[in-house]
Amino acid sequence: MDAFKLPNGRAVARLGQGTWRMGEQRARRADEIAALRLGLDLGLALIDTAEMYGDGGSEEMIGEALAGRRDEAYLVSKVLPTNASRHGTIAACERSLERLGTDYLDLYLLHWRQSERLAETVDAFETLAKKGSIRAWGVSNFDRADLEECVALPGGDMVSANQVLYGLEHRGIEWDIAPWCRSREVTIMAYSPLGSSSSSVRRLLGERALKAVAERRAATPAQVALAWTLRNPGVVAIPKAARIEHVRENAGALSVDLDDADLRELDAAFPAPPRGTSLEML
Ligand code: NAP
Repeated sequence: MDAFKLPNGRAVARLGQGTWRMGEQRARRADEIAALRLGLDLGLALIDTAEMYGDGGSEEMIGEALAGRRDEAYLVSKVLPTNASRHGTIAACERSLERLGTDYLDLYLLHWRQSERLAETVDAFETLAKKGSIRAWGVSNFDRADLEECVALPGGDMVSANQVLYGLEHRGIEWDIAPWCRSREVTIMAYSPLGSSSSSVRRLLGERALKAVAERRAATPAQVALAWTLRNPGVVAIPKAARIEHVRENAGALSVDLDDADLRELDAAFPAPPRGTSLEML
């Protein structure tokens, strides 16, 4: 599968590693670090975190995992909307860099839209980019109206990614957000591509059509679900997997190619909503 390249970034595989609910418990840390490091070994260079995750615990755990390997990773973090003022964004970024043990982020996102301070956030992102603290910036959970507003701001057209809920069971963005992002070369980062909880993941992976396609491709249902999310080149997927067997399995999705018959079968089993819906978010 091809790599993707964000503005000012190097090319990395379009499958990354999410880290929500990681770094929260000391007892799990060694296993989580082993999972992330295995992911790096397997080419899953993009690691997604946020100041919110574990109240900074996820970033600290990643900092430990990347000791001596920072240059192998493509690091993405997010500022909380409550911190996203002109000065607050810069201070939040500095705290994230400290926890991560690095002096730059490859990509910095606004976690979700909450206030009318978007112009300040964009201004702070541009300041951070000029200082070299971030290589690129983007947004998360932005609908089309939010995106339009963003690009109309001074410097706002430098937005390079929108991280949104997207997977076989959540296809609402295909109506307007995905085409808008494609036309502007804004990368879509699909979160929860396998589902948003262990029970929803289990249910999805047990679906008949997914199992049938997986059997034909000599792959697993999880690999097919991830390969489906990545079928369009402008999309990156960031499943979270704290178990090494899941990391290994997910990395295998990079070599699964779905053909038209596979895509038709999945489309019939998991249709996009019949009309545009408001953006779903977790
Ligand atoms: P999640 O629901 O926390 O975790 C996914 C679940 O799938 C975990 O239980 C994981 O198990 C399991 N899993 C992973 N690979 C599997 C496999 N091959 N087979 C069976 N189960 C598997 O995370 P998520 O909802 O996927 O979210 C992914 C990432 O997106 C987050 O970690 C975060 O970085 C980002 N995110 C962003 C936003 C946002 O607002 N921007 C919102 C939600 C998520 P194990 O962990 O036990 O391996």
